[in-house]
Amino acid sequence: MGTLIKNGTVVSAKDSQKLDVLIVGERIAEVAANISAEGHEVVDATGLLVMPGGIDVHTHLDMPFGGTTSADDYTTGTQAAAVGGTTTVIDFALQNQSSTLKDALDTWLKKSDNKACVDFSLHMAVTNLHGPEGAETLAEMDEMVAAGISSFKLFMAYPNVLMVNDELMFRVMQKAAELNALCLIHAENGSAIDVVVAQMIAEGKTEPHYHALSRSPKAEAEATHRAIALADIAGAAVYIVHLSNEDALAALKFMQGRGAKALAETCIQYLVLSIEDQMPGKSWEEAKYVFTPPLREKKNQEPLWEALADGAMSVVSTDHCPFRFADQKELGRGDFRKIPNGGPGVENRLQILWHFGVNVGRITPERFVELAATAPARIFGMEKQKGAVAVGLDADVLLWDPTAEYTISAKTQKMATDYSMFEGWKVKGNAAKVYSRGELVVDNVAKPGEFLGTTGRGRFVRREANAGGIG
Ligand SMILES: [Zn+2]
Repeated sequence: MGTLIKNGTVVSAKDSQKLDVLIVGERIAEVAANISAEGHEVVDATGLLVMPGGIDVHTHLDMPFGGTTSADDYTTGTQAAAVGGTTTVIDFALQNQSSTLKDALDTWLKKSDNKACVDFSLHMAVTNLHGPEGAETLAEMDEMVAAGISSFKLFMAYPNVLMVNDELMFRVMQKAAELNALCLIHAENGSAIDVVVAQMIAEGKTEPHYHALSRSPKAEAEATHRAIALADIAGAAVYIVHLSNEDALAALKFMQGRGAKALAETCIQYLVLSIEDQMPGKSWEEAKYVFTPPLREKKNQEPLWEALADGAMSVVSTDHCPFRFADQKELGRGDFRKIPNGGPGVENRLQILWHFGVNVGRITPERFVELAATAPARIFGMEKQKGAVAVGLDADVLLWDPTAEYTISAKTQKMATDYSMFEGWKVKGNAAKVYSRGELVVDNVAKPGEFLGTTGRGRFVRREANAGGIG
């Protein structure tokens, strides 16, 4: 007895076909035309698109930042993901500078234990190297890869907290190359930015608007180029996270053109929000849009969309890092340096990407699947479990209704914030039903916005080291 999804259109990264999908247990058992219904529970998917569940490779659940903690824990964060059609998230474990990678992994596994509601994995952020020439920490990278953590994050921003210098970054890249692991880079020149930030504060420019102005697109472009060049020298594959503007994009394309193994993602907020529309410098409300990199001028949006369509960029994520406006963003009133950095997005990623991507013809439905699920699975070493509607893979299946109209609002969202970055926006295209390893966890038609599974059912996904699938 299985679940047979009939009469839908299966969309892959390559094509769309009228096919039935049979789920038996936790896996996809068959994908074919006219599968016999005998002995199976039939789900009628007439008018719906059958896609792999979304994979958001960039979230920060239960993350400490500036004296507070991101508002979504593993329960609310993964339930919000599911409601929006995302069935796997990759979160970040952060090494404490004085501690080990193993400690960071233990800490984050504890945060997720009995709380995650869809499957998840972790990247490891390396913030310091211990031992002679970093040997102790570099040796720990072997253990991380053995544990299924095949990607390492390095911050070029946030001096004295998370930022690493070029020597440390280069040593990690060399080790990553040896391990076939992928290096993720937060590419901003944190040292230069901090000088500008201090000067702005001294001039009394303390409002949220100045957070955006203090972080030049060129500081991101410089770091993007430097990170990719260093990775290229080290022989490592590199993935630039949250690329936000056309200067950084030009640096990426230049290095790709020189043969560097360089990939990049952007996030939904950079595609549809801007300084002009969301933070023109008039109010404290703009703290809702304080994240890093900041929102950019509108002119950057179309080049980002083009790069998603032509393949210069491979993935759309969210950098979901939610803080409540009323009491958490409030910590930075009068000093933008103290505003917790981040915004809530994991629930809305597919809606925004579909509505502003597919509906207006910027990307095809197949490219949508590639950007939202298939490329994330391949790049991050889990394509044998996730990222496609194919026999043998986990039955993470999304029934997508391209005609469903939905109004985004903090009042109805699952995310634990008191605001939405897209409040009142009407989008067309939404998740109808969501299966996670064969279990119906969301039915937005019968029970809109509800998570139907048990808390803690999500499992840790061990990922292969495959050098971003481009090694
Ligand atoms: Zn992030």
